[in-house]
Amino acid sequence: MTDLTGRPASLGISADLWEILACPCPAHAPVVPDEATGRIVCTECGRSFPVRDGIPVMLLDEATLPPDGVQGDLLAEG
Ligand SMILES: [Zn+2]
Repeated sequence: MTDLTGRPASLGISADLWEILACPCPAHAPVVPDEATGRIVCTECGRSFPVRDGIPVMLLDEATLPPDGVQGDLLAEG
């Protein structure tokens, strides 16, 4: 499993920033880095957000919805 605590900055974003980042969707869910795409993915709605110059762009206007709705594997917790 992915454990973000104690990790160096992912996607060029500091650990401090990751702690306060949240998706702007109604759930205000935590977000996780997707190293493969270099984007930020919401754990609740599955939207992905771009990162520009190390700055997360947490805007619904900039978000990309997952092709198949909510990504099930991101919701699986135990
Ligand atoms: Zn969301």
